[in-house]
Amino acid sequence: MIKKLLHLIIIVFLTVFTQIGGIIYFLTILIIKSKQENKRLKRLIVFSAIYLFSTFLIVPQLANLFGREKIKETELIKANTIFTKLLNRNYVKPELNKTLQKISIDFEKKHKEIQLVYLDANFPFIDKFPLLPHLSHNDGKKIDLSFVYQENGKITNKKPSISGYGIYENPKNNEIKQFEICKKKGYWQYDFPKYLTFGKINREIEFSEKASRDLINSILRQSEIGKIFIEPHLKTRMNLSNSKIRFHGCKAVRHDDHIHIQLK
Ligand SMILES: [Zn+2]
Repeated sequence: MIKKLLHLIIIVFLTVFTQIGGIIYFLTILIIKSKQENKRLKRLIVFSAIYLFSTFLIVPQLANLFGREKIKETELIKANTIFTKLLNRNYVKPELNKTLQKISIDFEKKHKEIQLVYLDANFPFIDKFPLLPHLSHNDGKKIDLSFVYQENGKITNKKPSISGYGIYENPKNNEIKQFEICKKKGYWQYDFPKYLTFGKINREIEFSEKASRDLINSILRQSEIGKIFIEPHLKTRMNLSNSKIRFHGCKAVRHDDHIHIQLK
């Protein structure tokens, strides 16, 4: 009984974080029965083999049937971490793929060799299946992008955390402190991504107000984009007034560590 419960917990966990991992784990325990010798090692090998084969060869084909495709990486478009791809969190509608290409080309005109770095997008299958912890990333139309940073005044491709989340560009004294407003209203989760950095790196870099504004302007130039979410103090600081840039509400999380964009 306890064994069954443990299997169930693993299946739920893998489904929540990778979408396909739960089913593959279930297959694995059907293939390698509990009576077998060295069953744990055998299961680990079988699971890893099927998981990797599916993730890199089968899922990209199947996703087309669900109207989604893998983000097309180029010299100018890169994932912040390989885990985004390994966990199947890099799927979008074809229209968003095209829009990302256009944004990256437009942005690079101003900042040579500076990449568009993406974070979580959507899973490959099923509308309304959320990509936790982002509840709205459930239709192939949403993606998070990194801000742009500088090192000794020079724009760099480096980012401040391993996951790409959780290192905030905090409000200055005279700026609106939205995270305090939301916390006071009882939304404890608003500040939560600070625990999701998976490690701070590149401590020498700092937020580039100018390059991040240029990136947001490149995004705004694409008519397919419906909304952009960033933290209110950054919108003011970067002198942005376009009505597509919205406040996401206290039910979401802070957006001074990344930019959220979505199609119309
Ligand atoms: Zn998002």
